[in-house]
Amino acid sequence: MSTKNSNTGRGFTTFGLHKDVMRGVDAAGYESPRPIQAKAMPAALEGKDVLGLAQTGTGKTAAFALPVIDYCIRQRTREIRALVLAPTRELANQIAAEFKVFSQFADFNYTTIYGGVSQNNQISAIRRRPDVIVGCPGRVLDLMQQGKLKLDELDILILDEADHMFDMGFLPDIKRIMSRLPKRRQNLLFSATMPKDIRRLANEILHDPHVVELADKAPASTIDHALYSIPEGSKKALLKIIIDGDDFNSAIIFTRTKHRAKRLAQQLSKDGHRAAALQGNMSQNARDKAMRGFRDRTYDILVATDIAARGIDVNKVSHVINFDVPNTPEAYTHRIGRTGRSEMDGIAFTFVTGQDRDWLRATERMIGSKIERRHIDGFEPDAEPRSHAKASNNGRGSFGSRSRSNSSRSGGNSRGRKNGQGSGGQGNSRKGSQNRKRRYSS
Ligand code: AMP
Repeated sequence: MSTKNSNTGRGFTTFGLHKDVMRGVDAAGYESPRPIQAKAMPAALEGKDVLGLAQTGTGKTAAFALPVIDYCIRQRTREIRALVLAPTRELANQIAAEFKVFSQFADFNYTTIYGGVSQNNQISAIRRRPDVIVGCPGRVLDLMQQGKLKLDELDILILDEADHMFDMGFLPDIKRIMSRLPKRRQNLLFSATMPKDIRRLANEILHDPHVVELADKAPASTIDHALYSIPEGSKKALLKIIIDGDDFNSAIIFTRTKHRAKRLAQQLSKDGHRAAALQGNMSQNARDKAMRGFRDRTYDILVATDIAARGIDVNKVSHVINFDVPNTPEAYTHRIGRTGRSEMDGIAFTFVTGQDRDWLRATERMIGSKIERRHIDGFEPDAEPRSHAKASNNGRGSFGSRSRSNSSRSGGNSRGRKNGQGSGGQGNSRKGSQNRKRRYSS
């Protein structure tokens, strides 16, 4: 969240948000809407389905959280009105944290539901009938199947980072969850990329959606990104040079496997760095501790797998280092987008071995330009694809050099809510029934 400022929130007045939500926007320190917010919120507030092609870092959380809170606090009854599904617990927590800030002045409740922790507290929280559940598909489905979570009054379904949920194999669970939801509901689907299966899912569930396309296949211009072609055996030595460099502040280092993340974090700690691993074999407690430690700078280095690092939003990460290349070209933009956030500069380096040439070719095709090559004396290149060799930039000290190479619908709040007069702030004001349903897909 940005820092507090007395002039905040003014750019948000055009949306016609409930005053208690506006106070939350003020508290978050938001001055003007980000493009995804400006483009998606009017439609979302009108009750329309939205397909948002946007990555984490664009402000998409607020683009759905604000309309959802606004909707919920205008209802008369307290029911679970919205379900946000996210691929990882970290992202679920991050989304919940935004709900907390935006709704702090409103009569509104949310809870998180995900695996890896005891379900008892979650069941107690469900009994208190929150307005919104933010969760991961596995545990949400589990509790639905146990009969502990009933979503019969659900009006809004949000699928966040749908492509990553798909990558993680959650699609069958999501479909099972959807089969148990009311057919008439509003759907908001956010995805950084649109692979075939997500397009199919979007076609299946979205009804005449308002489409907002922001996802940039190319990395943000605030990221100075380059690659080093080196043999596998030189990766640790090169990493050491980078993290000992003057411009190094903090980094997320990505590895291909959980085991490699664990080993590398241990090795870095042994070498005197403040490093923690973040990978899927860790307990939820350990993952939370690592994230917290990275946020509060107990750790400068987080060594993570893709799965564990989805959607992480930590400001002021100076470097992203792809110790191993990601599995897909899309994941490249996603990973390096962990730095250069909120319009700050960032540096991203990728270690590429001769094995990675197909990935490299596909990635450069996707981003539409060549990734700058850098070399450092003493590190021989590892059989780089021949066609790219000419682009090499020889020269020591190039780690920190910042050559920046890379390059509606309006609507207000007029969706005819029957209970449109703000009821926020009155704890018991949402009694009695109301039949208002949103724009629906079946
Ligand atoms: P997200 O893509 O939702 O993860 O948002 C990325 C970061 O941008 C988060 O730290 C948000 O708090 C911040 N952010 C989102 N919208 C705005 C805004 N309109 N003004 C300032 N910061 C924002």
